[in-house]
Amino acid sequence: MKLDILALGAHPDDVEMSCSGTMLAAAAAGKKIGIVDFTRGELGTRGTPATRPPRPPRPAWCWA
Ligand SMILES: [Zn+2]
Repeated sequence: MKLDILALGAHPDDVEMSCSGTMLAAAAAGKKIGIVDFTRGELGTRGTPATRPPRPPRPAWCWA
């Protein structure tokens, strides 16, 4: 799949917390956007992937 912008984050929500406005603006301009999370936050201090609420699905314009 060919993307115009691929955002990389170490942990879930890193991309959303740091550049969601830019990603939304690019998507609104017709760009194809992707997000890659390198981990599920296994070593986080606020719970584990098993104890955190399920992540909401990413919007259709985002290829995750
Ligand atoms: Zn992080």
